[in-house]
Amino acid sequence: MRFGRHMPTESRPVQALRQLVAMGGDAMQLFVTNPRSWQAPAYNLAEEQAMRAARAELGDPALVAHAAYLINLASPRDDYFPQSVALLRATLDRTARIGGESVVFHIGSHTGSGVEAGLARLIDGIAQTLAPAENANDTDGAPGVDGASYSQPLLLLENDTGGGGKLGASFEHLARALDALPHYADRLGVCLDTAHLWGAGFDIGTPEGACATLDEVDRVIGLARVRALHVNDSREPLASHRDVHARLGEGTIPLVGMQAFLCDPRLTHTTALLETPLPTLPNKQVDWQTEREIFQRARALAGLPTPEGDVVP
Ligand SMILES: [Zn+2]
Ligand SMILES: [Zn+2]
Repeated sequence: MRFGRHMPTESRPVQALRQLVAMGGDAMQLFVTNPRSWQAPAYNLAEEQAMRAARAELGDPALVAHAAYLINLASPRDDYFPQSVALLRATLDRTARIGGESVVFHIGSHTGSGVEAGLARLIDGIAQTLAPAENANDTDGAPGVDGASYSQPLLLLENDTGGGGKLGASFEHLARALDALPHYADRLGVCLDTAHLWGAGFDIGTPEGACATLDEVDRVIGLARVRALHVNDSREPLASHRDVHARLGEGTIPLVGMQAFLCDPRLTHTTALLETPLPTLPNKQVDWQTEREIFQRARALAGLPTPEGDVVP
């Protein structure tokens, strides 16, 4: 299992990657577009090159992009839908150019049109997102503006707590979208967020519950299709359908269950990423020294070695 965290880049992704590796991580999640804007940023060839060079130098840590929160492929609205497809295509393209392995996106909310209508829209939206570029002037697909071609990242559908008409609280929603697009099977996968599982009512707070939840994922989706994990505790109770992340052990999910979940041998092929709140100093800067300790405890909980080589029980 590769294990890292979501990093704020402050427009300096190479520096964020160095910080992550210095903490002992071997996987980073980042935003490659502004998460609250419909506009994808202009290409930055120098930065893309610097990212690829830094990754090679740092032992090839995994890179996962999180798509903008605005994207809603399940939306019945005629304006949001094409905007969502365009931004998700641009996100895949930007991720490919820095050598990223996958893009995680929220599969969206039907906003009242119903689960069936939402799923149909979602499936259509994924197909449009992954469709090859129609002509060479279409800069959102490979080959890109510098003429190079890149291997295409996976598109990962994230599970949800299911509040507010959101799809993905049920594993069937994820499986149905994947199963409807068999010709894109090698481009698609799933990201499971532990706080979202908890919010959706899957009791991963005990070893038995964690095991049963993974049995259910395997039965409905297939664990091979789970490629990434978001490793978060939750501030909200089980089955609240609400999503407020907490640091591991500081929320409502008992650590004994979280540990069993993370240490399950059926998840060793995944890339695990914390999306927990970063500690801050009185001057509001991130307290990286404290985060390093928090991060090491999380790695140890997953049974992974710390940089010093010892596994803390
Ligand atoms: Zn997410
Ligand atoms: Zn969340």
